[in-house]
Amino acid sequence: MEKRISGYTGLMGLFGSPVGHSASPEMYNFCFQHDGLDYAYLAFDVKAEDMPETIKTIRLLKMRGGNFTMPCKNIGAKLMDRLSPAAQLVGACNAFVNEEGVLTGYITDGIGFVKNLKEHGVEVKGKKVLVLGAGGAATAIQVQLALEGTEEIQIFNRRDEFYERALETRKKLEEKVPQCKVAVNRLEDKEKLQKAVAEADILANATIVGMKPDLHEETLIPKEWMRKDLVVADIVYNPEVTRMLKEAGEAGCQTIEGKGMMLWQGAENYRLFTGKEMPVEAYKDAMRTAAAMPPSP
Ligand code: NAD
Repeated sequence: MEKRISGYTGLMGLFGSPVGHSASPEMYNFCFQHDGLDYAYLAFDVKAEDMPETIKTIRLLKMRGGNFTMPCKNIGAKLMDRLSPAAQLVGACNAFVNEEGVLTGYITDGIGFVKNLKEHGVEVKGKKVLVLGAGGAATAIQVQLALEGTEEIQIFNRRDEFYERALETRKKLEEKVPQCKVAVNRLEDKEKLQKAVAEADILANATIVGMKPDLHEETLIPKEWMRKDLVVADIVYNPEVTRMLKEAGEAGCQTIEGKGMMLWQGAENYRLFTGKEMPVEAYKDAMRTAAAMPPSP
């Protein structure tokens, strides 16, 4: 007999396309079960144009909360009743909570990034951070860094459609968080990039460079530019150790992998959904046990 799902079970879910590969249902359902919470979390494949109907359905089914992934993060933010300060600045949300019919959107990618650094003993307050990239994740990180008191953010992006996004982010941050200095630079300007790496406390790759299957042999920062007192973080998590992190490690830098960011943004979502701390250690143990088991036939 199914013990966990009952007539009272509350529904949560992930909305986007594709979603079949997502680890979120496994993670949240494990944690609900671990904490004895009567929720179930499913993934729903929906396109951006389906979002108005999706939001109506969320309200109709009284879903407690959930997540939006690509391509639904921007439209999701437009359809919320309220937005967190970070989601307002980014113009996108990856998590929502339904409080008696009022939907509030949050962006937790940047929170996950900062928390992952903290878990590795790295504070961002008062620091100079160089962020490679200006896409969805990079923007969320830049906004969160500014909100957490980072002194200076140097954004580098190549000459593509995301460059404009970086200029918009700088404008918004100048208005809302003026104490944080933000500079936007062309990735193609290698001289400026080398100087910025030399002056940074933290270097973060938030582009897709380094990611499998096509870009895992690539890095945007030459190994010779790395120095021992530079903290190097990558948000790419496949592979877990990117070429940039491997070379930074060889140069003696502290390196921080992207998978922790994913875990900690999940933990922040869980706190928003349930008001409880996610049982992160129990989940990590379960993952380690599952990885050690032979695959089922
Ligand atoms: P996006 O498409 O919104 O942005 C892509 C970024 O990569 C842009 O800044 C673009 O200019 C840059 N870029 C693309 N090709 C490039 C190239 N050849 N050289 C230099 N720059 C290039 O993507 P996103 O959603 O922001 O995701 C970016 C990466 O972050 C992906 O690898 C994604 O898997 C990862 N990510 C990780 C987490 C996590 O929790 N660790 C969360 C979100 C995203």
